[in-house]
Amino acid sequence: MHSVPEEKLLKGKPVSEHVYNRLGEQLSFLKSNNVTPKLTVILVGEDPASQVYVRRKGKACEKLGILSETITLPAETSEETLLARIQELNTDDSNHGILVQLPLPSHIDENRVIRAINPAKDVDCFHPQNVGLLVSGNPYVLPCTPAGIMEMLDYYNIPTSGKHVVVAGRSNIVGKPMANLLVQKNNRANATVTVVHSRTQNMAELTKQADILIAAIGKPRFFTAEHISNGTVVVDVGINRIDADTEKGYKLVGDVDLDSVSTLVEKITPVPGGVGPMTIAMLMQNTVLAAAAQENVVFP
Ligand code: NAD
Repeated sequence: MHSVPEEKLLKGKPVSEHVYNRLGEQLSFLKSNNVTPKLTVILVGEDPASQVYVRRKGKACEKLGILSETITLPAETSEETLLARIQELNTDDSNHGILVQLPLPSHIDENRVIRAINPAKDVDCFHPQNVGLLVSGNPYVLPCTPAGIMEMLDYYNIPTSGKHVVVAGRSNIVGKPMANLLVQKNNRANATVTVVHSRTQNMAELTKQADILIAAIGKPRFFTAEHISNGTVVVDVGINRIDADTEKGYKLVGDVDLDSVSTLVEKITPVPGGVGPMTIAMLMQNTVLAAAAQENVVFP
């Protein structure tokens, strides 16, 4: 148990429910146009965390009435075989979304695989064409975790316009697209963004200047009172397993040491139960948007 008062917690569940309600309406509209979106997830190998994520994605589809298929391939699958499966899905009109679960085994070139996905079906927003559209302010779909964070900030009425947001982490999945979304010129963004990473010097000096800190470095309880000023809004993206005296032998903690920062933060997302539920909700949103685009359905 942590010591953060309930009213400071930014929970993901109500926000994801809000997104699911919105999607329910869009799905009904698609249905009235004889369209049922379909998402195909490809999982290569048997990474336990990936298996959990893939199962959750399938369940979310089921809950909403989105068709889903999971293709499970052995860890020794060749790059050519994987590319051939993607090619089949690229040209299958009944399939609207393709998600290749990362990380891939080391003998497969992740970039080559991402580039092979038809951008219209790239529900992760990883394809360079979609990344380019995002950066230029004209996105096709939005990257799931960063878009989920934007949705949370909006839901909880936390403005970003003119605010100093420090993004910790520069991965292609979280840090970089997060910074890109936040600097866009629109009412939901307009932030002044600093990105800090593993080579940043005097990191605490920078994070202490943040109105909003987005922690996405994958280091358990790294950020403490030393890094955060009074009144900061903290979004903790980290999901880290640490040994614990639980049935499973581990528990999940974020990148932020909740106990250390509890009196300082204005608001904070808990781990688990914060950003986590949002990523899958946004994946569902992208699948719906990709289906509408491919089937030429325009929402009212
Ligand atoms: P990553 O390992 O690809 O990237 C981590 C980044 O953090 C790197 O850019 C690195 O420069 C930076 N970094 C590492 N150590 C640092 C340090 N000591 N100081 C400053 N910067 C440092 O990880 P990722 O895929 O971006 O994920 C980050 C975390 O978010 C992980 O814990 C991951 O499990 C979690 N995650 C959560 C969700 C979700 O849905 N909540 C989704 C994706 C990732």
